Amino acid sequence: DLLVVGSANADLVIGVERRPAAGETVLGSDLAVHPGGKGANQAVAAARLGARTALLARVGDDAHGRLLLDTQRAAGVDPVGVLVGGAPTGVALITVDPSGDNSIVVSPGANGRLTPADVRAASGLLQASRVVSAQLEIPLETVVETVRSLAPGSRFVLNPSPPRPLPQEVLDACDPLIVNEHEAKVILAADGAGGTDGVGGEPEDWARALLARGPRSVVVTLGAEGALVASAEEVVRVPSVTVDAVDTTGAGDAFTAALAWKLGAGASPAEAAAYAARVGAAAVTRPGAQESFPTAAEVAAV
Ligand code: ADP
Repeated sequence: DLLVVGSANADLVIGVERRPAAGETVLGSDLAVHPGGKGANQAVAAARLGARTALLARVGDDAHGRLLLDTQRAAGVDPVGVLVGGAPTGVALITVDPSGDNSIVVSPGANGRLTPADVRAASGLLQASRVVSAQLEIPLETVVETVRSLAPGSRFVLNPSPPRPLPQEVLDACDPLIVNEHEAKVILAADGAGGTDGVGGEPEDWARALLARGPRSVVVTLGAEGALVASAEEVVRVPSVTVDAVDTTGAGDAFTAALAWKLGAGASPAEAAAYAARVGAAAVTRPGAQESFPTAAEVAAV
């Protein structure tokens, strides 16, 4: 079983002709409200594929929190770990102009109140999970407590997004650490060694440099170029699937969820990443984040 520990947000989206400058008011389209947040996205992506999935997260006692609970349940996620209260549900306020450029303000809200004590109280969920997947839209100390609370033999997967320097015990637990180019650069810069400068320009080089920081394995996602899987033994390229990309929002979350689930089910890293690349490709063929995530049958069809 997969446990996702992470964020749940309401994405509030307004289309505008032009994004407002300081002091300016502009009129926009009708408001669209979408369930989002990397944790909620990953849980929905995995459940839609058929994974037995639970989400440990925190939402507010408000309409956005109810939307998130409803969409988790509708996708088949066990919502027992979705805690309610303490602050308003996290929100992303998004304005998007006709060229697709956006401006985003995030209020973490209840995500910032998901505490180490909440992780300790969810020990039953952690003990029942073969694989635990986290991101960084919740407090770092909560991620640290998650690593400390893993069941013996269970696997920890981390997408460090938004990226920031990581404690050694978190890096050491990752199997894999899943990064895109930007995240790789921030993690590699964290010890003052100059990021990817001096590491080499190729994703293979970043993957080896990241492995040297402690993770048992590393996966680098490369958008339309696919991905790369690196362990102490080998570095393997995973080709992408060629599709007509409509909207890449949430592709990384779908990829990570699929990879974590397949690894927990015993697939090799290369097999799991090849499947995850198909899931990511399917997700970019439709608009939106959670709305775009494929079922297993839809993955087979890409
Ligand atoms: P992130 O959103 O974290 O930057 P990516 O954009 O690299 O993640 O996407 C994650 C994965 O989804 C990629 O590794 C790839 O397998 C798949 N993917 C993303 N964009 C495309 C695309 N345009 N065509 C095919 N596959 C894609």
